[in-house]
Amino acid sequence: MKQIVVLGAGYAGLKTVHELQRKADGSFKITLVNKNSYHYEATDLHEVAAGTQPKEKITYEIADIVDPKVTTFIQDEVTSFDPEAKTVSLKNHDDLSYDYLVVALGFVSETFGIKGAEEFALPMTNVKEAEAIHAHILKVMDDYKQDPDPDALNIVIAGAGFTGIELAGALADGRKEYAKHAGVTPSDIKISMVDAGTRLLPMFSDGLAEYGVNLVKSLGVDIITDARVQEVTDGKTIYVFGQDEEKTPYELTAKTIIWTTGVSGNPLVDEAGLKARRGRVIPTEHLTDADHDNMYVIGDVAAVMPPDGQRPYPTTAQIALAMGKYVASDLVNVVKTGSHLNEGFVYKSLGTVASVGNTRAFGVALGHETRGYMASATKKMIANESLFKIGGMKEVFKKGRFDLYH
Ligand code: FAD
Ligand code: NAD
Repeated sequence: MKQIVVLGAGYAGLKTVHELQRKADGSFKITLVNKNSYHYEATDLHEVAAGTQPKEKITYEIADIVDPKVTTFIQDEVTSFDPEAKTVSLKNHDDLSYDYLVVALGFVSETFGIKGAEEFALPMTNVKEAEAIHAHILKVMDDYKQDPDPDALNIVIAGAGFTGIELAGALADGRKEYAKHAGVTPSDIKISMVDAGTRLLPMFSDGLAEYGVNLVKSLGVDIITDARVQEVTDGKTIYVFGQDEEKTPYELTAKTIIWTTGVSGNPLVDEAGLKARRGRVIPTEHLTDADHDNMYVIGDVAAVMPPDGQRPYPTTAQIALAMGKYVASDLVNVVKTGSHLNEGFVYKSLGTVASVGNTRAFGVALGHETRGYMASATKKMIANESLFKIGGMKEVFKKGRFDLYH
């Protein structure tokens, strides 16, 4: 009986387990390790951070997905894995040995070593961090009532990629709640974004990116572009304009600073001695590590090159799910025949849609640009499909987005 160990129950890891369970024939056993007892929809973290969705709406228990006849679930933190010894070390359990390993440990915040970013800015890469952001905002607003420091009403987002843009939209929706706590009107809450790029959202056409940026601005969010954050201190975001040869520092003062300048793969991947950059491995066509044929690296810890070989596909939940599905098929083939599938992993993106608050969005779906309320409905349907792909209809009925049209 072959032992398959899966690290991480995000989109990639849980999809792998879900598919493997469907294909189980007694020839393998699965052990799934994850920090928490629940899976979270990382695509909705900004809503928990803004307080527009409770944690319960974006999480579900891993035990609901696991089939105990095939899979053992261990709730623990992976502290390291050793591809040569074929072992995994855990914080609170004995080491695990494996025949095949699936590394699906996801993403962490990338601060690029910017001074003060880790200490003074709030990251948003998991449920605990997202909840901490919401709690922080409410505390600062409550404090404002006792001591009306205007910086308490300022929220700064460093980085206006998809994550920053979606967060800004959700925070704009949350303004009413924050204002109530502070005893002010919603328009008194000032949301600002700072981004190093001169042209935001470069993967979209000029028109679509401009539409998205204007949509966010229409909610009263300031967006400063060509502005690279170079330091964060307690309450200050310090940036310089790219065009400015003197590099004069400017600052935004705010009691809430949220960090969304990008993500990297889990550092355990670098620490395992793999040929990785920022926690990401360029896998083989079968999504294995080039030096370890029995180890798959998928989801945000993988940088998958498209056939044209220019830049890796963006790391998304969509590609993570596709990788999980492929790996389950490939693994079953390897266990049964000793060989990989004839076909390597092929990815076809369904598109990218960014939400701006609960009712509007913009993006490209199935090759067509989509905007406004329809785009928002499309995004919710994609989210429901992703829930269904892992959790089945039970989870869709419990957590699915049926508030499509408002
Ligand atoms: P993750 O989702 O990060 O899951 C990793 C899992 O591993 C987690 O359960 C974590 O708890 C666990 N883990 C980590 N370290 C350890 C450890 N040491 N021990 C044990 N367990 C561990 N993508 C889209 O396609 N569409 C979107 O609309 C979209 N929106 C997004 C919005 C936001 C705000 C963000 C932040 C991202 C968004 N993304 C979106 C990107 C998407 O969320 C990621 O690409 C996706 O989550 C990657 O999936 P994954 O399974 O590789 O990793
Ligand atoms: P990103 O890398 O896409 O964007 C980071 C942004 O931060 C960029 O605009 C960059 O110019 C800016 N930046 C970097 N350093 C800076 C600095 N020092 N000062 C100011 N600005 C700085 O990262 P992300 O938005 O976190 O997205 C991560 C991944 O998740 C991407 O692959 C993205 O496609 C995916 N994602 C997808 C969706 C969606 O499909 N709706 C939503 C969120 C995230």
